[in-house]
Amino acid sequence: MPSPVVEFTEVSKAYPGRVTAVNHVDLTIRYGELVAIVGHSGSGKSTMLHLMGTLDRPSSGRIAVAGHDVAELSDRELSALRAQRIGFVFQQFHLAVGVPVLDAVADGLLYAGVPMRERRRRAARALRRVGLGPRIHHLPHQLSGGERQRVAVARAVVGEPPLLLADEPTGNLDSTSGAAVLDLLRELHASGTTVVVITHDREMAAVLDRRVEMHDGRIVADSGPAPAGVAGARTEARR
Ligand code: ADP
Ligand code: MG
Repeated sequence: MPSPVVEFTEVSKAYPGRVTAVNHVDLTIRYGELVAIVGHSGSGKSTMLHLMGTLDRPSSGRIAVAGHDVAELSDRELSALRAQRIGFVFQQFHLAVGVPVLDAVADGLLYAGVPMRERRRRAARALRRVGLGPRIHHLPHQLSGGERQRVAVARAVVGEPPLLLADEPTGNLDSTSGAAVLDLLRELHASGTTVVVITHDREMAAVLDRRVEMHDGRIVADSGPAPAGVAGARTEARR
């Protein structure tokens, strides 16, 4: 069996001012899972995502991502790990004003050392994949909120990372657009990507395979991995 994609052992994260945002957390996420991290505002969800995305280091405990102990990697090695293995989607779409969506998505491959022509070719493919093929030359302000978030998802997955982390990806969307983005994340999961979605929306969490519930920096409930033999097994067989 391959090592888990994310493994937290006794992980804590304290911010200056004595806020312990994550408090002695153990969590294992295997390839092929579709996980919701749920909890009230301030419960530590975004901190969890930053830690699993190697954007931040823990105050104590051990984090391994794709089998690499994060503490043993330099900042440069962590950047490489992120570029190759992790896609991020945030509540704010983070699309630069005036940059056509094709280029915005192609920029997702900048750090992977892919030549520009190939970057743009793959970006067009990623945009088709999220249903925005006809919009590749649009500017962000010419798109709806839901379409902008789909661009952000295309940018996150253009490098085909095995792990996609999304922090309140539907938080700025109306319910119809939000449902479309959620469907898209489920499709990506069905095609083999491990997806972790942070949400405070219980309805959204309810349709995801596994729910990990946080309260005051601790995991207070975990519905556990989906039964083996579904998506996870398929993904592992392909790797
Ligand atoms: P959630 O995403 O569930 O709303 P966060 O992980 O953002 O929770 O925050 C957890 C706790 O850590 C909160 O009390 C928050 O105020 C605090 N916190 C988050 N980021 C920082 C930071 N950079 N500096 C200090 N405190 C922080
Ligand atoms: Mg948050």
